[in-house]
Amino acid sequence: MKIEIDKYSGFCFGVINAIAKAEKLLKENIPLYCLGDLVHNNLEMDRLQKIGLQTIQYEEFKKMKNAIVLIRAHGEPPETYEIAKKNNITLIDATCPVVLRLQKKIKKTYTENNETQIVIFGKKGHAEVNGLVGQTYGNALVINSIDDLDKLDFNKPIAIFSQTTQSPHKYDEIVSELKKRMTAYGTIEKLECINSICNQVSLRDKELKNFAQKHDVIIFVSGKQSSNGKALFEVCKSVNPQSYFISEASEIQFEWFNNASSVGICGATSTPMWLMKNIAEYIESHTK
Ligand code: SF4
Repeated sequence: MKIEIDKYSGFCFGVINAIAKAEKLLKENIPLYCLGDLVHNNLEMDRLQKIGLQTIQYEEFKKMKNAIVLIRAHGEPPETYEIAKKNNITLIDATCPVVLRLQKKIKKTYTENNETQIVIFGKKGHAEVNGLVGQTYGNALVINSIDDLDKLDFNKPIAIFSQTTQSPHKYDEIVSELKKRMTAYGTIEKLECINSICNQVSLRDKELKNFAQKHDVIIFVSGKQSSNGKALFEVCKSVNPQSYFISEASEIQFEWFNNASSVGICGATSTPMWLMKNIAEYIESHTK
């Protein structure tokens, strides 16, 4: 059975940069805390913890003083920077430049147009989304489905953005319904659509479709809590019904490979390449 790892899968540059920053400081034996999981992958988190990274949650962060804390690629709301300043915490800011640009754009739109409803297509409570909502002092509305559009006032101006890792297909569906409704209200000229899905995600979407079609079985590797993982797995499933979502090798069921002559292994922007390689070796050694 042929086994291929998708060369386009694995960490995006935002995650690579955040991990490199952490590893550099840890190598110098600098005690380093990270606010929330640096990457949505438990096995990579175990590896980072073993080399000294300590993950803290917000409650702990608020009480900390005189420490060094890493901000992950997802970014943070302004409140986090204010707390750090007050408590003499040194921030190592690994916010991805793409997320940073989006935060600035949302802030600008919000401050320059106080009538405009700021809408973010994303997952409520997700760290990146919290950072985006924070740019509007909590006033942006987070939506995740067409049904959520009922919460909007179509008479007022609307600016719709997206969390960087959402599905481009779902975003297009929501925007097209939003356009329909605003056209019916006669307010379409008050709509601004800013497709802020990261290229690393939207390009992968297309590449992954080709990859998933090429193989009999697809093993998609991702942490269960990764938004990008869920979105990219749906892409695989839509073109190859023999697609399976796993987080680690022990979840593999070998009957999935009955009658298969090729297996493709791929993953999310938070899936380490070393993990996909381990899984390829595991499948190979058990199917010989
Ligand atoms: S998916 Fe894109 S925006 Fe998000 S961290 Fe990775 S590179 Fe940055």
